[in-house]
Amino acid sequence: MSNHFLDTKIEFLKGVGPKRAEFLRKELGITNYRQLLLYYPFRYIDKSQLFRIADINSEEIHIQLRGKIVELRTLGEKRGKRLVATLKDDSGEIELVWFKGVKWLASSILIGKEYVVYGKPSKFSNRYNIAHPDLDEVDSSLIANKVTLEAVYPSTELLTKLNLNSKGIHKIQQNLVVQLGGKIQETLPFSILEELKLISKEKAVVNAHAPENEHLLQKARYRLKFEELFYLQLNLLRQKVIKAEKIKGQVFNRVGPNFNTFYSEHLPFELTGAQKRVLKEIRDDVGYGNHMNRLLQGDVGSGKTIVALMSILIALDNGFQACLMAPTEILANQHFEGIVDLLKGMNLNVQLLTGSVKTAKRREIHEQLENGELDILIGTHALIEDKVKFQKLGFVVIDEQHRFGVQQRSKLWRKGTKSPSLGGAILPPHILVMTATPIPRTLAMTFYGDLDVSVIDELPPGRKEIKTIHRFDASRLKIFGFIEEEIKKGRQIYLVYPLIQESETMDYKDLMDGYDSIERRFPKPTYQISIVHGQMKAADKEFEMQRFVKGETQIMVATTVIEVGVNVPNASVMIIESAERFGLSQLHQLRGRVGRGAEQSFCILMTGNKLSADSKLRMETMVKTNDGFELSEVDLKLRGPGDLQGTQQSGLLNLNIADLVKDGQILQYARDIAKEVLKEDPNLEMEKNHRLVTCLNQLFGSKINWGRIS
Ligand code: ADP
Ligand code: MG
Repeated sequence: MSNHFLDTKIEFLKGVGPKRAEFLRKELGITNYRQLLLYYPFRYIDKSQLFRIADINSEEIHIQLRGKIVELRTLGEKRGKRLVATLKDDSGEIELVWFKGVKWLASSILIGKEYVVYGKPSKFSNRYNIAHPDLDEVDSSLIANKVTLEAVYPSTELLTKLNLNSKGIHKIQQNLVVQLGGKIQETLPFSILEELKLISKEKAVVNAHAPENEHLLQKARYRLKFEELFYLQLNLLRQKVIKAEKIKGQVFNRVGPNFNTFYSEHLPFELTGAQKRVLKEIRDDVGYGNHMNRLLQGDVGSGKTIVALMSILIALDNGFQACLMAPTEILANQHFEGIVDLLKGMNLNVQLLTGSVKTAKRREIHEQLENGELDILIGTHALIEDKVKFQKLGFVVIDEQHRFGVQQRSKLWRKGTKSPSLGGAILPPHILVMTATPIPRTLAMTFYGDLDVSVIDELPPGRKEIKTIHRFDASRLKIFGFIEEEIKKGRQIYLVYPLIQESETMDYKDLMDGYDSIERRFPKPTYQISIVHGQMKAADKEFEMQRFVKGETQIMVATTVIEVGVNVPNASVMIIESAERFGLSQLHQLRGRVGRGAEQSFCILMTGNKLSADSKLRMETMVKTNDGFELSEVDLKLRGPGDLQGTQQSGLLNLNIADLVKDGQILQYARDIAKEVLKEDPNLEMEKNHRLVTCLNQLFGSKINWGRIS
């Protein structure tokens, strides 16, 4: 669909020209009419009310006046220089003052001419004046044109210098909008417009930039947001359809001795309902020749590992190898030990591959992988090196997914295996990505719209809810007393300090000071303390960690290196120092280190006395709820989607008008409608859906984005 008018270069628009065009491109990436129209206002000012000068009695609100400039004076020198204009209407007079742009204004404001003035009054020596008001000649003002809502656009410093501040951008938008009649093609099928009672694309675009009234503005914004989210969802869901058709997966149609023996003789506990359900979802995925690409979300401690392991056993039962990748060495070790322990006596070859594995051992592992002797490989990034070749890789588990980049994941995906039944075609392994950082539903729908998502929403039985409390630094002595009591009961304690890269040395000092004061209060030999931080060698970290795991030390002083996955069921107290410096999801991750045994566990958030409103809300939220999903929703509201873990790398957040935080409902609706469309017409072949194909291709191109799928 070429649309020549909208492709017109921006410099040809009235009021732009080459210089401004250059900066619109550099600053906002706008090069043509279409892109300018996609640059939507972020709010609107209601300019429908005219105030009488005599009625001004408050500094609270922006007001609009209409009158003649009767006097114009430049006062003061140098930095005190200002322009003062007197505006007069039927009821009285008021002074307008400018400290900037004095020269230009002085020459452009005309005495005796009528203006519409918009600004916020302030009281000075018992009289009101307005500093830096907006000034419009009456004939070009919105009021004269019966427009009452004025669009406000974000601008930049450089653009402002070229007179393209919000008002300047508004002006050029208006110059474009008046030319639009009949030039904007509809982008949604008639059936959808009809069903949802949406206004036409053209009307929506016009009203977004130049609203006729509040009602039409709302309809316009709704329509544009819906459209944006709808195409996003349609694209994701369609990729899923295409993928299901094109990408075949290995068929695991057998549940054999490995799974069965484990289930009947090794499983140390009854699976929770949620674990059973997820296992079934996975079995349904891998059993019939589809390729599985599944995200498993489950709060810390919900028992994702056992689900992963049992899925791996199914892969082995079907003659495949499997691997599990963790983001840190500590975690990989822990998984390795845990899994070896669970599989004891089952005659399976499980190996660990991390950066610290010696060359000889490494060579042995490589060999066993290639000749098929090795069944399960557990490790860190070391797994994705090109040298690591599997004979028959069928199943990949990626733990704590947000720590890995997209590229690392797609590398594993390529370590596929030939399929004899498909003429030797290479098939990718099934992929299970696990995360304990719950993603708000709106984001999951957007980022993982083309993945299948499983959720473990039930904790293993017998867990006591972790008690979370917030204390100020002044209560430290009391907290020490509490630690002492817990240790007497045989418990272990975590004490965590923040480590933020920019001030690593300072944080390091905090950690060491903290360690010293703890050591003074809890002296050897009665007490033993471990310390783990990022500047230690991996082997030393591991050693200290192990001392704590084995219960040789009672207190673990650490930075956030212990954040992910570490499992010490006997640890029942998590103290987080300077808790205000952590984000919600990180606090929740840390809290998840305790509450893993049968004992009552505690999480104590220590902060300074002065807290920002956001920090306060974070502490309150932590105290109030243990539910990771609830926390993630608050996190999304506090930080916005761009800051949430893992989202930065995705271009998906470049939305023009919709907002994933505020428009969750429209998003859900858009996804439902997109599903309906694809259910009726999976390949979008029906006449009425032609427009969808055209727009999809225009928006996303026709390629599938492999990187994102894996
Ligand atoms: P996460 O989901 O955080 O990775 P893990 O898989 O490490 O959680 O499991 C946390 C702890 O809960 C482990 O000690 C594990 O053995 C135990 N666990 C897992 N599932 C169950 C269950 N169904 N019943 C009892 N304990 C379980
Ligand atoms: Mg885990």
